[in-house]
Amino acid sequence: MDRKEFFIDGSWAAPIDGDAHQVVEAATGRPLAEAAMAGTADIDAAVDAARRALTGPWGALGKAERAGLLEKFADELQARGRETAETVTRENGMPIRLSKSVNGFGPAFMMRYYAELICGLDLEEHRPGAAGRRNVVRREPVGVVAAVTPWNYPQPLAAMKLAPALAAGCTVVLKPAPETALDAYAFAEAAAAAGLPGGVVNVVPGGREAGAHLVAHPGVDKVAFTGSTAAGRAIGETCGRLLRPVTLELGGKSVSLVAEDADLDLFSAQLLNVSLPNNGQTCHAGTRILAPRARYDEVVEAITETVRGYRVGDPLDRDTQIGPMVSRAQQRRVLDYIEAGRASDARLTTGGGVPGDLAEGWFVEPTVFADVDNKDVIAREEIFGPVLAVIPYGTLDEAIEIANDSDYGLGGTVWTADEEKGIEIGRRIRTGTFGVNHYELDLNAPFGGVKGSGLGRELGPEGIDPYLVHKSLYLAAPAAP
Ligand code: NAD
Repeated sequence: MDRKEFFIDGSWAAPIDGDAHQVVEAATGRPLAEAAMAGTADIDAAVDAARRALTGPWGALGKAERAGLLEKFADELQARGRETAETVTRENGMPIRLSKSVNGFGPAFMMRYYAELICGLDLEEHRPGAAGRRNVVRREPVGVVAAVTPWNYPQPLAAMKLAPALAAGCTVVLKPAPETALDAYAFAEAAAAAGLPGGVVNVVPGGREAGAHLVAHPGVDKVAFTGSTAAGRAIGETCGRLLRPVTLELGGKSVSLVAEDADLDLFSAQLLNVSLPNNGQTCHAGTRILAPRARYDEVVEAITETVRGYRVGDPLDRDTQIGPMVSRAQQRRVLDYIEAGRASDARLTTGGGVPGDLAEGWFVEPTVFADVDNKDVIAREEIFGPVLAVIPYGTLDEAIEIANDSDYGLGGTVWTADEEKGIEIGRRIRTGTFGVNHYELDLNAPFGGVKGSGLGRELGPEGIDPYLVHKSLYLAAPAAP
C-alpha cells in the first residue's frame, strides 16, 4: 500500500526534495502505509508539468473531446470505488457506508456531471456591439489550478475541483493532506488508465509548507482550497497579494433549528446524517441544535436517547455509525472541547469521554451538552468531532437571531411540519446552504459559505464559473459597401 512516488506529467516520480510520512490507521492507531510528502522542488515539477500540458495536446482538444476523456476518467474512478472507499475509511475513520457513497462513487458522478455540463455550454458567443460593431465573447480556461484539500472527505472535495477544472480545459496540481495521502492516488491511476495527457492531473501529497509553496507559485493561475478557516485566511491573503482568483471552502458551526411543530421522530432519524456525519468531522454539520422552550425537555431527551444509541466502533463494519477521529491530535482537540463544555454551565446528558471498550485508535464518545449558551466556546468554535450543543430559545425570531450570531455561515436546517415556514426561515438565515427537514449536498446546486465559512461556490452549474474567464474580442463595424 506504500506510495513512495508522486504522479507528475503522466508518470511516477520519486521525490526530489520531499520526504516520507507514515499514514496511520484511525481505528487502531497503527501504521497503515508510507506516503511520499512533497518538497518545494516536487511542487515546482508538478506546476511546470501542468503549465506545459495547458498548451500541449490537452489545450488543443475541443470541449466534446475533453468530455469524452472525463467520461473515461469517471469509469476508471468508479472501477476503483470500493477500494478507494476502504482506503479512506482506514485513513480517517469514516464509517464505510458513508465512505462508499461519498468516496467510492462521488468523484465519478461529478466527472460525468461536468462532462455533460460543458457540452451544453456556449463558450463563444457572437454579440452585436454599439454603432454596428460586433463582439465575440469567449469563455476560456483560467489555466493551471492548485487544488488543496483536507482529510475529512478527501475524494469528493478533490473531485469538486478536478471535475469542473478539467471540463473547463484547465490542468490541475492536486495537493492532498498528509492524513489521506494514499487514497488520492486513485485520481492518478484513473487519469493514466483513462488516457488523460501527461500533466493534466498531477498528484503531490504534502504538508502545510508544500501547500503554501503551491498556492503562491508563479506558475499557478487559480487556487481552489478546502480546509480550516485559519489556513483559508492565510491562503486568501497570499492570493490577494498576487491578485490570484481563489475559492475558499472553510469551516462551519451550523444550526439545526427545531421548530415547535417539528416531527421529532423524523428529526431524530436524520440526526446522524445532518449533525454528526463522518463522526462529526464535517464542515456543514448542524452541531448547534436550537430547541424551543415549549418542548425543550422532550427535544433534549430525543437527542440524548438517539445519540446514546449510536453504534460506535470499527468504521469498516457496515453497522458502525460513529467511527474514530482521524488522529490522536484531533481526538485530543475534541476532548479538550468536551472539557470546556464541562467547565461551562452547560449540562452533559450523554458521552463525555473515550469509550471504555475502545482503547486503541482515536475514538470519542458521541456527546451531548444541553442548556448551552450561544456565547459558550462549544457553541462558537468548530469542534469537528461528535459533540452537540443544545441551545434553548423562546420565539422563532430569537432562534433566527441565535442562528445568525455566529462567525460562520455554511449549512443549517430547520425541522417543521410547515415547509413554507421552513423556506421563510431559510431566507432569513445568513448561510450558503440550508435544508428544510433534511440536508444533503446536491450536485445540481451550488455549495459554499459566507462569513468565516469562505468565498465562492463549488458544485452545480455555478461550480464551473471559477475555472472559466471571459475574453471579449471587439470587431470593427463592417466596412460600408
Ligand atoms: P487544514 O486547513 O489544516 O488543512 C487543509 C489542507 O490545507 C491540507 O492539505 C493542508 O496540508 C493544507 N494547508 C494547511 N495550511 C496551509 C497553508 N497555510 N497554505 C496552503 N495549504 C495549507 O484543515 P484540516 O484540518 O485538514 O481540515 C479540517 C478543516 O476543513 C475544518 O475546519 C473543516 O471545517 C474544513 N472543511 C471545510 C469544508 C467546506 O467545504 N467548507 C469541507 C471539509 C472540511
